[in-house]
Amino acid sequence: MALMTPEQFEESVKQLKPRIFMNGKQVDNLFENPNTRTVIEANKASYDWALDPRYKDILTCYSPLIDDVVNRYTHVSRSNEDLVKKAEAGTFTAENLGTCIYRCVGYDAFHSLASTTWEMDRDLGTEYHPRFLEYLKMVQRKDLSVAGALTEPRGSRSKKTLNWPDPYLSLKVVDKNKEGIVVRGAKINISGAYASHELAVLPQAAHFEGEEDYAVAFAIPTDTKGITYICQYSPYSAERELADDLEELGNPVFGQRETSMVIFDDVFVPWERVFHCGEYPYSVKLVSRFAKTHRMTCGGTCKVGFMNQVIGACKLVQEYKGLEKATHINEQLMEMVVLRETGRACGLAAANKGAEEPEGSGVFLPDELMGNVSKLNICNAFWRLLALAGDIGGGLIVTMPSLKELKNPEVKDYVEEFLSFGSDEPTENIMKVHKLLQNWTAGQHGVATWHGAGPVMAQKIMLQRVIDYEHEKNLVKRTLNLKEKK
Ligand SMILES: Cc1cc2nc3c(=O)[nH]c(=O)nc-3n(C[C@H](O)[C@H](O)[C@H](O)COP(=O)(O)OP(=O)(O)OC[C@H]3O[C@@H](n4cnc5c(N)ncnc54)[C@H](O)[C@@H]3O)c2cc1C
Repeated sequence: MALMTPEQFEESVKQLKPRIFMNGKQVDNLFENPNTRTVIEANKASYDWALDPRYKDILTCYSPLIDDVVNRYTHVSRSNEDLVKKAEAGTFTAENLGTCIYRCVGYDAFHSLASTTWEMDRDLGTEYHPRFLEYLKMVQRKDLSVAGALTEPRGSRSKKTLNWPDPYLSLKVVDKNKEGIVVRGAKINISGAYASHELAVLPQAAHFEGEEDYAVAFAIPTDTKGITYICQYSPYSAERELADDLEELGNPVFGQRETSMVIFDDVFVPWERVFHCGEYPYSVKLVSRFAKTHRMTCGGTCKVGFMNQVIGACKLVQEYKGLEKATHINEQLMEMVVLRETGRACGLAAANKGAEEPEGSGVFLPDELMGNVSKLNICNAFWRLLALAGDIGGGLIVTMPSLKELKNPEVKDYVEEFLSFGSDEPTENIMKVHKLLQNWTAGQHGVATWHGAGPVMAQKIMLQRVIDYEHEKNLVKRTLNLKEKK
């Protein structure tokens, strides 16, 4: 089996030397920094689950590419069943981590690369597809974690890339030679890259004639010379740094969703790792195939798992407060379940209605309409779920004192008494569940859910492209026996 143990994964990450900055300081040790550590823990869990007989059906699959069992996060879907399993894996990992599985964007990038390299070779006679498959085989055999990077800083949105005063606001090829290419620029908001082995890089947007140097896709080790990671930093990052005990935090082990800006300062990429270079009409295909795959993931699978964390916490709070018979709370909980199941249904529909794309490629991608509907639907559903959680949790979600007070002899007894709801539940449990709800309702997850895989306008644009209304018009024409136009 081509599967690493969690310990081998840790050891392999220790061998990497990425250049990382957080909060004005260099992060010398990913394992010791409490925020970067969470990314290692989240990815590590995926190695653990893959070897656990209870979860191997979700987290592993057979890869004909290397004729072996691989981690699902390194596999390109070859059927609708694979896509359904992909959806189930997204929900499973999200609900167990309460944060991102940082292998997911790379997994979705693989689907786009497999499909589009095949098409470029067919149409243009390039040799990207076998090159990509060789790369993928290496990833599968070594069981690597691969992050994915598309989003770019960008210049004025009202101007074309070539008219930006700074040409590197989109990642650009600045040199080419016999051995490979050199790229300069940046990707932003990139999930978990510094604690992954590899980074798969795709264009963010369509490119046009004259923009050939921006039409580029490749994969490189995360500690390649010239790459710098500038990490996100929020009040939650500071809180984790200041915590005496991880138990004080709303998600002790796996933390928040960690991202960074990734700077490419003249980074060399050998040709064997370049999968798109200059063929600008295909940039949009790489982007849109990634988008529909990732929108199924973000919309209809991982948010379903996140919702389970929120619903579970709300149900516990209801019980702590003795509100089991409160009709409106039961209705709110039911509404949450309806939102969750609508999300799940859209994700599964996207998987079940998915198809081989392009025909003959052997690559299965989710259905465009349902993939985009999944994400568009969840943008609003998730905010609604958070609002309902805020109502059930009450003001304490945002007004609660630190869990440190439970160890402070001066106030410990007051906190124990007055935050117990007069129940026999340990106050510590009550506070921890409220802290978890604070993370979700007053943390980064609302905006992150909205923007991850693109803001709503991006889904609406895609939907407007695929909806044609012919079927609906014809139904009415038949029903009313309408006459042909004169
Ligand atoms: C937690 C998190 C994790 C992420 N992880 C990854 C990752 O691993 N890899 C990755 O590649 N990306 C990642 N992203 C990036 C994510 O895909 C982007 O945030 C998303 O696509 C929105 O882009 P933006 O943040 O630049 O927002 P913007 O594009 O600045 O959007 C802000 C607003 O401007 C509007 N707008 C933007 N451009 C135009 C235009 N041309 N015309 C009209 N309106 C416009 C948008 O519709 C929106 O209303 C992540 C994001 C988050 C929040």
